Amino acid sequence: MKLHEYQAKDILNEYGVAVQPGVVAESVDEAVEAAKNLEAEGASMFVVKAQIHAGGRGKGGGVKLARSVEEVEEHASNILGMTLKTHQTGPEGQLVRKILIVDAVDIEKEFYVGVTLDREKSMNVIMVSSEGGVEIETVAEETPEAIHKAWIDPTIGLRPFQARRLAFALGLEGKAFKQGVRFIMALYKAFEETDSTIAEINPLVLTGDGDVIAVDAKINIDDNALFRHDDIAAMRDIHEEDPTEVEAGEHGLSYIKLDGNVGCMVNGAGLAMATMDIIKLAGGEPANFLDVGGSANAETVEAGFRIILKDENVEAILVNIFGGIVRCDRVAKGVIQAANNVDITVPLIVRLQGTNAEEGKALLDESDIEIESAVLLKEAAEKVQSAIGVA
Ligand code: ADP
Ligand code: MG
Repeated sequence: MKLHEYQAKDILNEYGVAVQPGVVAESVDEAVEAAKNLEAEGASMFVVKAQIHAGGRGKGGGVKLARSVEEVEEHASNILGMTLKTHQTGPEGQLVRKILIVDAVDIEKEFYVGVTLDREKSMNVIMVSSEGGVEIETVAEETPEAIHKAWIDPTIGLRPFQARRLAFALGLEGKAFKQGVRFIMALYKAFEETDSTIAEINPLVLTGDGDVIAVDAKINIDDNALFRHDDIAAMRDIHEEDPTEVEAGEHGLSYIKLDGNVGCMVNGAGLAMATMDIIKLAGGEPANFLDVGGSANAETVEAGFRIILKDENVEAILVNIFGGIVRCDRVAKGVIQAANNVDITVPLIVRLQGTNAEEGKALLDESDIEIESAVLLKEAAEKVQSAIGVA
C-alpha cells in the first residue's frame, strides 16, 4: 500500500526520524490558514506540495515555492484540482485533492537515503547517495559509484558502525554527522517495524544551519502485513488507486490490469501465470491477471466477469479453473449462474480440470449460454485462438 508524503512523515516522526513538519490542506482557505500559522511561528517562505501517490512532482509543477501567504494562496488554487503528470503517474496523470504546506528550507546540500529489500541477497539494504534530489535510477545508471550500500543481517539488525559508515560516505561532519547517523538508525527502525517494502527519503537535506532533515518521504507498506497495522491501514487513500483493482479487492479477487485482448479468470496465482503464458502461446495477449482464489463460486465469478468486461480491449474470456477441493461441477454451475447475470459480449471459453471435470463440462455444454468448453489446456488455447481470429 502506498502512502502520501504527509502520512509517511507522520509515521517517521513517531520513530524519531527528523522530518520537516507541515500542514495538509484540502482547500485554498485551509492552505492560507496553514501558511498564516507557520508565519506566526517564524516562517517567511513556504513550499506548496501536491499530495499524490507518485514522485517527480517537482518537475511536473506540483511543488512550488511561495514567498508570501498571498503566493501560497495563488499556488494552492493552481495545484488543488490540477491533473498532475509525472514520470510515475502515467500519461493520464493524477488528480490533486490535497496539498502540504511547509516551511521553505535553506538547502545547503541534497542527499538520497533509501531502505528496501535486496531479494538477491535476502537482506534489507540501506542505500545512500550524495546525489540527492535526482532520481536514484538515473544515479545508478550514470554514476553508480555515488551510491553507497549497507546490507543488514536479519539476525543482527542494523549495527551503529554501518550507519556511521553511510553518514561518512555522504560527507557529513560534526553535528550533521551525528544527526545523519541518528537519522539512518531511526529510518531503518521505522522501515522494519511498519513492515515497509520501501522507505525512501529524496531529498534528505543538509540545511544552512548544519542540520539534517527529510524534505520528502516515501513509504510503501507490505499489504500482507496491514492486518497488524490498523493505524496505517486507515491511511489508505483509494482515490489514488485503480478503481477496478479496488472493486476486485472488495470481492476478494486479485486483479491486475494488463494491455492485452484476452481476459482471464483463474484460481491460484501459479495457474494464473501459466494461463497467461498459454494465451501468449496461442497468439493472444493477456488483458489481465485475475485470481479468484479458493472460492470460485457464482458470486466471485460474476464479479470477475464484470471487472474483465470493463476493459474495452477484451476480445475473449478464458476461464481456467482447477477443481481440487472445489468440484468442477459446482464451478460450472457457478459460471453458468454468473454468465446468466452478466451480459457477456465476447466469446467465453471455459476450461475445467480436476475433480468431476467431465460432469462440469457436460453442464456447460447443456446450458443455454454460449460457452466453449474444454478439458485440455491445448483445446482451450485453440478455442482462444479462433475466438480472437489468429490461426
Ligand atoms: P518530488 O520528489 O515528488 O519531486 P520533493 O518533495 O522531493 O518532491 O520536492 C522536489 C524538490 O523541491 C526537492 O528536491 C527540493 O529541492 C525542493 N523542495 C521540496 N520541499 C522543499 C522545502 N520545504 N524547502 C525547500 N525546497 C524544497
Ligand atoms: Mg522527492
